[in-house]
Amino acid sequence: MKSSILTLISIFLFTGNLYAEFKLDPLDYAYNALEPYIDAQTMEIHHSKHHAAYVNNLNKAIKGTAFENKSLEEIMKNISTLGDVVRNNGGGHYNHRLFWALLSAKKSEPSEALKKDIEKTFGDMDQFKKKMNSEAMARFGSGWVWLVVTPEKKLTICSTPNQDNPLMDIAQVKGAPILGIDVWEHAYYLKYQNKRGDYLESIWNVINWETVNGLYNEALK
Ligand code: MN
Repeated sequence: MKSSILTLISIFLFTGNLYAEFKLDPLDYAYNALEPYIDAQTMEIHHSKHHAAYVNNLNKAIKGTAFENKSLEEIMKNISTLGDVVRNNGGGHYNHRLFWALLSAKKSEPSEALKKDIEKTFGDMDQFKKKMNSEAMARFGSGWVWLVVTPEKKLTICSTPNQDNPLMDIAQVKGAPILGIDVWEHAYYLKYQNKRGDYLESIWNVINWETVNGLYNEALK
């Protein structure tokens, strides 16, 4: 619990600070921590190769632009002005940094307030998970499925292509992402091959609800 809260705090602190280069932070759990639901090799390649490449490419693309020292959130908000390399790699960095904090081997639950909101919006937890998974299945090719708090403070589910996210000014559904699931094949192919549905069933075993609860509370402020 301590480490997930620290991750959360660091997400909020870091994004408010000015710093010259984006960095790939180590995971706060081992690559094999999410076995058997997500295998160690997938985690290692996903973090140390895919996420690392997004960070490196973002740093190269943002250097010398007016957004060099801006937060990732600022970059997301202005993404339509920054070109496809920043869109893909800035989105990739934001999405993966969040994704790692949304996973944990430790069992956790949605807070009472979030659970009530989910039940009010989607019926019950099972229907909510089903809707997330069906949105994820409907995403053709690569992308993400999100649970979002809209500017009207309502929960909604959406999906985005590639490395887009609901913070981007070009997003169809905008808001604060509080839960995101990566549905790129690189997130599951080694273990699940073409069976995206099996990966989606499995990932609910390792969702870090403490992170989701914290982001939900932040988004409602
Ligand atoms: Mn990914």
